[in-house]
Amino acid sequence: MPPDQPTQRDLFEHRPAWAEDDRRQGTIATVVLPDGVDKPLDYLVPEALAAAVEPGRRVRVPLGRANRLRLAYCVAVRSGELPQTPLKEVSGVEDDKPLLSRRMLALTEWMAERWMARRGEVLEAVLPAGVRLRQKARVSRLLVAGQVDPARKLTPAQARVLAAATQPAKAEQLAHVANASRAVVTRLLKLGLLREAGTVAAAAGPARRAIAHDRPEELSPAQATALGAISAAMREGRHETILLFGVTGSGKTEVYLQAVEETISYGRQAIVLVPEISLTPQTCDRFRARFGTVAVLHSHLTPAERHGQWREIAAGRVNVVVGARSAIFAPAPRLGLIVIDEEHESSFKQATAPRYHARDVAEWISRAEGVPLVLGSATPALETFARCLSGEWRMCRLADRVGGSQLPAVITVDLRDRSARSRGAISPRLAAGVRWALDAGGQVMLLLNRRGFATHVQCQACGHSMRCPQCEIALTLHQPGNKGVCHGCGLVTRLPADCPECRSPGLVHRGTGTQRLEEQVRKAFPDAAVARMDTDTMRSRGSHEKTLDAFRDRQIDILVGTQMIAKGLDFPSVMLVGVVNADAALHLADFRAAERTCQLVTQVSGRSGRGPQGGRVVVQTSTPDHPAIRAAAVHDYEAFVRSELPIREALLYPPFGNVIRLVVRGADEDRVAAWAGTLAERLRAAAAQDGAAGLRVLGPAPAPIPRLREQFRHHLQVHGPDGPALRALVGRATAGLKTPDGIAWIVDVDPVEML
Ligand code: ADP
Ligand code: ZN
Ligand code: ZN
Repeated sequence: MPPDQPTQRDLFEHRPAWAEDDRRQGTIATVVLPDGVDKPLDYLVPEALAAAVEPGRRVRVPLGRANRLRLAYCVAVRSGELPQTPLKEVSGVEDDKPLLSRRMLALTEWMAERWMARRGEVLEAVLPAGVRLRQKARVSRLLVAGQVDPARKLTPAQARVLAAATQPAKAEQLAHVANASRAVVTRLLKLGLLREAGTVAAAAGPARRAIAHDRPEELSPAQATALGAISAAMREGRHETILLFGVTGSGKTEVYLQAVEETISYGRQAIVLVPEISLTPQTCDRFRARFGTVAVLHSHLTPAERHGQWREIAAGRVNVVVGARSAIFAPAPRLGLIVIDEEHESSFKQATAPRYHARDVAEWISRAEGVPLVLGSATPALETFARCLSGEWRMCRLADRVGGSQLPAVITVDLRDRSARSRGAISPRLAAGVRWALDAGGQVMLLLNRRGFATHVQCQACGHSMRCPQCEIALTLHQPGNKGVCHGCGLVTRLPADCPECRSPGLVHRGTGTQRLEEQVRKAFPDAAVARMDTDTMRSRGSHEKTLDAFRDRQIDILVGTQMIAKGLDFPSVMLVGVVNADAALHLADFRAAERTCQLVTQVSGRSGRGPQGGRVVVQTSTPDHPAIRAAAVHDYEAFVRSELPIREALLYPPFGNVIRLVVRGADEDRVAAWAGTLAERLRAAAAQDGAAGLRVLGPAPAPIPRLREQFRHHLQVHGPDGPALRALVGRATAGLKTPDGIAWIVDVDPVEML
């Protein structure tokens, strides 16, 4: 047995019923390891540590035969009789304060069950890496000189370090600049003469800068109704989930802002979740402009900066937290409101374990705290819509744009129609629309959800298409340099001049990506300034902001981009939005393909005509009659919902049923298939035993992306009407399974990614 395996004694938990003899009293700590053993383990708390061991702190415990010390989370402490079999003792305490409140501990327990995740990995996920740093490592945060008592005697080295620390700097920089050792820096920290620099963005400024200039005099009636519903829940201290279902530009953000204002006026804190900070700079700016102290938790923060923010929030010095998915775990002690903007976005579901959804976590927290949860979207997820229709959640409609501006007229161009064809990706109708907007002094956004130059490279003679050697995914051509790039694994290869199969010369570039589109746009509109926004052009920090600023300043006339340009942007001069290929995502092997398409086309259309000159949208499609496209074209998302819900109901897909997806991967396809088969058999057997109606096991089958990074992928799905029953079934069927070597498999509860 490897030394780190738990021994019988580690796992001993329950006192046997026959053991009724005298026994010692004592304190027992239940701990969870971050990895390895998943079962909570009990340890005896020695007298000397009794004051320090409490739930939420990490402790060091001996594990296995070798009694190697491991760091573990203390999740519960109880006093009482000790079990017959002696317990091992906690050997030390890591943190001087709990990292997690009791409520957060309860949340992690719920999350572990809800998404079939290991408790240890949930605990790690709710705490940012910086918070988990050990004491020793904490010195790498930014430091600055504190107040120095003039009477204090400093060594020359200490004086040099303090002189260097008038600006925030890292410990190692200070030591270097002052020609002092790291020990000097550590000593100054201990003495309190150096302190950590504040890391809260925009911390300066009075907290009551609340009445900023962009605050409208009066709310529209729909806005007032929505705010009234939120205020009522807030004043009565009760939980309610309220969806703002409002077209783009209907004033949802203004409602969030005023609700947050009210929360702050009660001395409470608000958490605002956005899909991704870098894609929503305007939303963040508006929160920053309106409120004094806003902690913006974005992905570029270093672990130390994140920890700094965390502590400011925990200390109650920050009123508003804006961040992506994981900001839901911000340790706000006086939480009064949670807002989720663009609640339909799939980025709120974590793609790696624990595979939680921030919307469900937010519901749990707001229920536990007795505060309202506000969701907002022009295109709510069908799951959200259904919960409003059932009356569980409240829906507030904001049907019109504020200020009377009209939603743009949408023209669909049927790409099957010969007259719509052109040499490039831009149909004559779309070109005319671009010309119209430019001539009127407006700006243009063109959406194409495929990056690169050409979407595949093919031999004209034999039809062979170039594929990634690791993933089997068709290679995308990227220019300059004639590179073949795999969008699955990122592999970059040089494309050959001749076909590797039949040796004929002349591989052709098929399909249009954003690079080629940009080239075509430049040729067609030589007088216009063109820029492109996709992950290829936006690799460096701050590049989003730079491009968006340039667009706002009218240095760019036409912005070409992927879905990156679809979200949350408010540029009043945009008079034309073009959707180059609305069908791109419609035929993916994913039951949400139509929903996603309708959401994307609706969202990007909403970027047009926000100013007084109005605007238009041109949607190019080969399926103009598809309900997703038709609904988006008339700005009637609800029409799509009405057509889609019966389909979901017939197939028992969410929101009418629950799905758990299992994905098996490995280098050897036969073994991957065999293991997926074993899982399917066990699931079917368990389902048969249950005899419950509506339980279905689909698959196994190769996943829609059958190979990724040299790993074969097979998947299966389990469907059922009841979430907890379905999880119990999967739990039972897979309990105690020993996974063969070379195989990895995951369980995804409520998957949003089916590829
Ligand atoms: P959404 O979040 O639904 O897209 P916003 O809150 O961003 O809508 O509002 C769109 C624009 O209208 C913003 O520029 C905002 O400042 C302005 N606005 C919002 N509410 C009002 C109002 N009641 N009166 C006037 N202008 C408003
Ligand atoms: Zn060929
Ligand atoms: Zn690849």
